[in-house]
Amino acid sequence: MSTVHNWQLGRPMQYPYDAAYPERQFAFVFNINRCIACQSCTMACKSTWTFNKGQEHMWWANVETKPYGGYPQSWDMKILELLERANPGGQRWNGAGAGKPTSPYGRFDGKTIFETQETLLQPPSSRVLGYLPDDEEWNSPNIWEDNPVGPKGERNRLHPTGEALPVHKTWFFYLARICNHCSYPACLAACPRKAIYKRPEDGIVLIDQEQCRGYRKCVEACPYKKSIYRGNTRTSEKCIACYPRVEGKDPESNGQPMETRCMAACIGQIRMQGLVKLKSDGTWAEDRQHPLYYLVHVAKVALPLYPQFGTEPNGYYIPPRWVPRPYLRQMFGPGVDLAIERYSNPDRELLAVLQLFRRDNRIIYRYAMEKGPEIYRGKLRDRTITLYNDTVIAYGRNGNELFRTTVEEPFHVRPDKHANSI
Ligand code: SF4
Ligand code: SF4
Repeated sequence: MSTVHNWQLGRPMQYPYDAAYPERQFAFVFNINRCIACQSCTMACKSTWTFNKGQEHMWWANVETKPYGGYPQSWDMKILELLERANPGGQRWNGAGAGKPTSPYGRFDGKTIFETQETLLQPPSSRVLGYLPDDEEWNSPNIWEDNPVGPKGERNRLHPTGEALPVHKTWFFYLARICNHCSYPACLAACPRKAIYKRPEDGIVLIDQEQCRGYRKCVEACPYKKSIYRGNTRTSEKCIACYPRVEGKDPESNGQPMETRCMAACIGQIRMQGLVKLKSDGTWAEDRQHPLYYLVHVAKVALPLYPQFGTEPNGYYIPPRWVPRPYLRQMFGPGVDLAIERYSNPDRELLAVLQLFRRDNRIIYRYAMEKGPEIYRGKLRDRTITLYNDTVIAYGRNGNELFRTTVEEPFHVRPDKHANSI
């Protein structure tokens, strides 16, 4: 075991290999508040990568209804329970150092899936705590869709008194998921064939299909269950981050790096993907005008999914405002309250950056703002708010302008010749 620094946990961590960080890291932000579970992302991925024989049950991108849904079923409950059994009562965050760049969420004092070998692992030679889902658990990718938590935690019953923000008594939300292309991938750590590797140019995690012998150690080890076994080829497969698009090889992109298919297809405009610069210690290099750096490290509205697993996932989520906080804290860590407070009362810059989502399919490397006029002043939840019609400009890899857009959405009047017959 080596000692590596996990900035999401705010402490050093045990990992089977020495740390090695890419120049830039594939990362993304999903705004849960906007997801409508249309599954366009899911189908964009499936129709591109997993439509062949033997891949029927394979959904690299999926959207599940929380808290009951999951693909595979109960994946997060199961790994959380294993960790709790390995370290009873000890899976806790300690606020020490919260807010610092090296420990933005404080310090996690519990154990990660790489630090429980002596306690639980069967066989003891396994490197990572995990489990292998059975066939039944992979069968229903959208189980319990739209089932809310009702009174006393009952599934699918509405609370009789109605609901209002800030927190609903009856609630559910949609959790869109892909592989997190983790900085410390559990799939890679567990592979006895060394068939899994992380690309030095963009941190994308891939399985070499020639090397893989289908031992399914990666399926067992990935806490997010994003490596999936294919019976007819006897190999495991996973999200490849649409790497030809990220490399700028999509015929549509004219050489410019493009976001993945699931991002580009997103109807709810919840997704933004980019490539963030890393320092030699694996923390994010300061890049103030990068939209992902801004959302994760400046506005702090986007948080990692289950950081306590220890893989340092590169998927970040703006948590849903209406969900009880204890549930969100176990899922996204201690940054939840600040993230929801900021997202609910966005300042001028945050409002502008949120307009960048899905205006273009090319990857944004930098943004700039031009201040616009005041367009609204009023009260929102007892606070005075002022809105400005600022312009936000997105730039691509070569510094070229990709697009510009405004806080106020453009208003289009449909000409008479397209009159709607309805
Ligand atoms: S999410 Fe799972 S499959 Fe993806 S890199 Fe992390 S550990 Fe590997
Ligand atoms: S396409 Fe976007 S809005 Fe639709 S389910 Fe996927 S993430 Fe949600």
